[in-house]
Amino acid sequence: MSCANKAEEVEKLLPPVASTPALAHALNVKQNSEQSNLSYDIVKSLTVEVGPRIPGSQGDKAAVAWAEAKFNELGFDKVYKEAVRVRNWERGFADAKVVSPFPQDLVITALGGSIATPESGLEAKVVMYDSIESLAAADKAEVEGNIVFLNTRMERDKAGRFYGKVVPNRVNGAVEAAKQGAHAVIIRSVGTDNSRFAHTGVMRYDDKVEKIPAGAISTADADNLEAMFSSQQDIILNINMQAKDAGWQTSYNVIGEFIGSEKPDEVILISAHLDSWDEGTGALDDGAGVGIVTAAAKLVKEAVGQPKRTIRVILYAAEEIGLVGGYQYARTNKDTLGNIIFAAESDFGAGQIYQLDTRFNEAVRNDPADLYAALEAMGVTLGNNTSGGGPDVSMLPNYGVPVLSLKQDGTYYFDFHHTPNDTLDKIKPEDIQQNQTVWAMITAYMAMSDFDPRPAPKK
Ligand code: ZN
Ligand code: ZN
Repeated sequence: MSCANKAEEVEKLLPPVASTPALAHALNVKQNSEQSNLSYDIVKSLTVEVGPRIPGSQGDKAAVAWAEAKFNELGFDKVYKEAVRVRNWERGFADAKVVSPFPQDLVITALGGSIATPESGLEAKVVMYDSIESLAAADKAEVEGNIVFLNTRMERDKAGRFYGKVVPNRVNGAVEAAKQGAHAVIIRSVGTDNSRFAHTGVMRYDDKVEKIPAGAISTADADNLEAMFSSQQDIILNINMQAKDAGWQTSYNVIGEFIGSEKPDEVILISAHLDSWDEGTGALDDGAGVGIVTAAAKLVKEAVGQPKRTIRVILYAAEEIGLVGGYQYARTNKDTLGNIIFAAESDFGAGQIYQLDTRFNEAVRNDPADLYAALEAMGVTLGNNTSGGGPDVSMLPNYGVPVLSLKQDGTYYFDFHHTPNDTLDKIKPEDIQQNQTVWAMITAYMAMSDFDPRPAPKK
């Protein structure tokens, strides 16, 4: 199609907003992306050829090698990696049994970072609380010597807003339970499914509080255990989890760049995290993000040629255990963070994008009106200007780096998140393609324009 035809087509599609050359590039990429399955092919390659990749594990090392090879195969101009020290943890065996009054097995998994139980297991009475706040407010005599069961339900929601409300059970449950003298904690899985898959995820200890084992039972098992309490009898549970700390390892942030032809020092930073939990294949979390941002960069290169600004794709190490790669990147590159035009991370599965949030300099935020209008026409609405940008870039606005986030439909994300059921079949090719297209359009626009949203407004 000629440029003139393209311009006419743009006129027809869009509300009357002055259109820039950068938008023509974005629309060109859109057309190509809608014919491409590259993001799906990349996450398929990662999940099939590498699979689970917990930080510091053999799978993680294989993922780093895979990422370097993938960037090279796709023809990135520069491929390199930066070391990240990570604490490796091995899940080991885990089981849980109701000993009395209704003997039966429960599906359990250890929380990431948990210590083990004694080898013969840990047997005690269970005390149930509906929230971490009611545990903290409980009488210590009621908790002491027992196993705490935190049974908070998580509601299904497009934006996943209930995750933040429930996840303190997982992260801080062991510390709160130990403060009250408990010998172990189990939580109702932080998830929206009704299944017998337990959801793992990182937990934390406090050096000043005794360390106790921490696990999650599936939501179906949590319902079953909860129902036993109506018998008014003491419920005795035996849990046996043989997780272990496997020491320090070196992992890497793996980085691929298309170097800017006119402004190589101005950087468009798009990212995802390469690590995953160990039970599924990390397809939604965060294989999808890896596929989306890597494909977006490659599609821009294919459609517009060498970008004016540098496009940098970062696949971060060890997000799951505390944004370790993200923080390390900010430290290693502290003197050049000012070169970043904006940073963004895709880390919410493969549901379709419906909103663009930014943290841009307020004075220029609305300058890319033609881009916003083109996205609006695709069902992606311009949202707030207080975005955090995604986990691994969330620290960058503190250094003045603008960020944006592309909000995805997360209605079903927490059915699979951090479970053995997070596998490739959960990704719909048309959904991940929509993500790829939106990311590619924004990347093309920003890499081919002079729009500069620096500095980010302070938090
Ligand atoms: Zn993630
Ligand atoms: Zn995760």
